[in-house]
Amino acid sequence: MVVTPSDGPTQDRSALPSGVTITTLQGPRPGPTVSLLGGVHGDEDEGVLAVLRVLDELRSSELTGTVHAVATANPVAWAAQSRVSPLDGENLARCFPGAGGDGPTHHLAADITRNLIKGADLLIDLHSAGMRYRMPLMCGFVSDVEAADQSRRAAEAFGTPLVWAHTDSSPGRSLSVAAELGVPSIYAECSGGGSIRRHELDTYVAGVLTVLADLGMLPDPGGLNTRKEPHWVYGPGDLDSGMQAKRDGLFVSAVNAGDIVDIDDEIGRCYDYRGRLLEIVRAPRPGVVMFLRRQARTLADDVLFVLADLTPRQE
Ligand SMILES: [Zn+2]
Repeated sequence: MVVTPSDGPTQDRSALPSGVTITTLQGPRPGPTVSLLGGVHGDEDEGVLAVLRVLDELRSSELTGTVHAVATANPVAWAAQSRVSPLDGENLARCFPGAGGDGPTHHLAADITRNLIKGADLLIDLHSAGMRYRMPLMCGFVSDVEAADQSRRAAEAFGTPLVWAHTDSSPGRSLSVAAELGVPSIYAECSGGGSIRRHELDTYVAGVLTVLADLGMLPDPGGLNTRKEPHWVYGPGDLDSGMQAKRDGLFVSAVNAGDIVDIDDEIGRCYDYRGRLLEIVRAPRPGVVMFLRRQARTLADDVLFVLADLTPRQE
């Protein structure tokens, strides 16, 4: 254990059997426990760097309570710059809580569930659109669960221009296991593509620090993120259920991530490898484009886009 100067937090680093390393910063005064995940997908560097920058800020802060952090949460996938693990082909964000299999990615999910999600007062899982997609800068949470009020408050405090309230979360996600355990949770997304934009990194770092301050774990940061009222969007938000390409080919997008589209608006076009138009892809309903395929080369069944709803659905 390393004691940082002055009245700052102590730091502990521990390697778990699955290969992930947890950094824990413990303030001198007891308080809430917040867990940070960066790099659940190995092709998303934004969350990894944001978690490392947050830890750097916290080491010299007047932290109250405890912060657990992993960056990267999926070291082998990160080394391969891959969304899925090269060890077993599994997507860590479909393996939580890790009880559904015996491979290395399920072990990783079980370690993270046991050591970071269980017992936390808040989980913050920082993602991005990765190499194949575009997404707007946003924060999301699950709205129809026990801990929804605290999740909603954290999502608003995080300070992104867009907040996505999901009515439910599909199995295997960090947020779904957090919901099952009664742990409030939020996640963040940004544009991806293998580069990092400074304003998105800054928003992530300031977002985490603002949420910690909102929980009383840091002194008031004085408006790190502009506290404008965010735009709200709704709906399931499951990439796996987005509109898919019918055939192999090249996808040409006609909109940007974050655009508002009306029913039947063109989202893009699919061409075959000889340049013939296969399909004009249109919006099935009004909404906001949340996931949009970035990579032109597309196989049949690859997801092309996902819309969020502009108003809550009447269930
Ligand atoms: Zn991700």
